[in-house]
Amino acid sequence: MSLDILIKSGKIIDGTGNPWYRGNIGIKDGKITDISLNLREDANKILDASNLIICPGFIDIHSHTDYILPVNRSQESTLYQGVTTTVTGMCGDGMAPIPVGKEEDFKKIVAKLDPVLQQFDYPYHTFSEYLEYNEKKRNSANLAFCVGYGNIRWAGGQGFENRDATPNEMEQMKFYLREAMEAGAFGMSTGLIYAPQIFSKTREIIELVKVVAEFKGIYFSHIRSEGKDIINAIQEVIEIVEQSGCIGGQIAHHKIAGEAFWGRSKQTLELIEKANERGIHITYDQYPYNRGMSDLVTALPPWVREGDNDLIIKRIKDTETQERIKKDVEEGIEGWENWIQNEGMKNIYISTVVSEKWKDTAALNIPEITRMKGLADDWETFFQLLIDNNLSVGITIESMSEDDIRRIMKGRYHMVGTDGFGIPGAFTAGAFHPRCFGTYPRILGKYVRDEKLLTLEDAIRKMTSFPASKLRLKDRGLIKQGMWADLVLFDHHKINDKATYKNPYQLPEGIPHVLVNGTIVVKDGIKNKKSPGKVLKFRP
Ligand SMILES: [Zn+2]
Repeated sequence: MSLDILIKSGKIIDGTGNPWYRGNIGIKDGKITDISLNLREDANKILDASNLIICPGFIDIHSHTDYILPVNRSQESTLYQGVTTTVTGMCGDGMAPIPVGKEEDFKKIVAKLDPVLQQFDYPYHTFSEYLEYNEKKRNSANLAFCVGYGNIRWAGGQGFENRDATPNEMEQMKFYLREAMEAGAFGMSTGLIYAPQIFSKTREIIELVKVVAEFKGIYFSHIRSEGKDIINAIQEVIEIVEQSGCIGGQIAHHKIAGEAFWGRSKQTLELIEKANERGIHITYDQYPYNRGMSDLVTALPPWVREGDNDLIIKRIKDTETQERIKKDVEEGIEGWENWIQNEGMKNIYISTVVSEKWKDTAALNIPEITRMKGLADDWETFFQLLIDNNLSVGITIESMSEDDIRRIMKGRYHMVGTDGFGIPGAFTAGAFHPRCFGTYPRILGKYVRDEKLLTLEDAIRKMTSFPASKLRLKDRGLIKQGMWADLVLFDHHKINDKATYKNPYQLPEGIPHVLVNGTIVVKDGIKNKKSPGKVLKFRP
């Protein structure tokens, strides 16, 4: 039996955390069929890996690629980093389900994420139809989907209203959630700083996560605060996981945001450690940058964000309401992540806008824009940006310290996730977060090779077998006979991220080959048009 592909004489790092060894990998019918020290030559294709490391493809456990899929399915910016499986539907906002009769309303909601999403048809209703729809499309890499609490609340619950669910709404939400889990969702995600999820009480989330627990699924959470109230927010996740009986909690993009709170990662990591000692499974993911990415509308106090866009815009046009907003920002509101107060206008940078008038503001911070546009003050810039762009303003926020980033990265429960999007390499609109292009090579270059914060083998484990075991993927995340041949070949002397905040659209260096399900998708640093990616389903 001749092999489809032979990868010869590379340094194999198998994903377990064990030290590398030199060997050859044989691939047949998409899977790893043999790993040998002696060289076989009977293969249709040979990849020479003499100066390269061969490791399992990276599993991006936190991604928002699902927003981009209707526009472009190439997943380029993540594939070039070596991501072969993307877990998406995060922070409570995904693309399904869409109840019958609510199609137009759905388009209005996704338009808040990106106005271009309003132009597409979404030819599915249930979560199972959504997975089927994605299976029929061309996928460069594997996709795993979660269902968003925001979607469930909109589909069956109290929508954008600031109140508790009625018993009937609770049943409806559970119905949609159960349908998604049966279809193969890996779990439910929440984004507890976003409207309307910000209006939800802990006990409502516990009730819903009980359904996730019935299916042995995972609860992914963008927690209620990453700054001032982070200790309470971590305690809330622990409570939700414990009270629901869920066997896997995942804290999204763990960080300490806001200079006044730097250093609190010591306490958060201790809380996570103690929870695990008590048998509550909590892990987390991280991207290696000092800025977050979100949307400007979330800088508004929660009460301003109730209801639909028209209502929100009407509020912020009103000068008296503007004064009330300024006062709330200054004084703070219990339980609200107040970015303008915590980080300051100078640390808020524009990434994407929709209005032509504001296109020249990409990568600038708010005071820079105020000066450039000759506006009265930063507040005027803030309100005008939101009004002119129909609230669709993407931002990056400089908020983290290098000490916290490093402490979180070294933590025992740490995995890697981009919190980004797989976007086309030739994309140039606005200034997306560089994490979309550089997360994995940045860790392997800067933090592993240059700063020796982690060993290479351990860093790769956190990118491969650790997320695979969390996701209960039994046939991915390791180099082992019988596993799907999702593989990355890279040069550890050359690997580097190149994407910056000013110029994010730059591919990394030092990753010549990427294979998905035994098919070469990136060869000599160039992506081809093959689409061997599968839609994975949660089958614990
Ligand atoms: Zn998030």
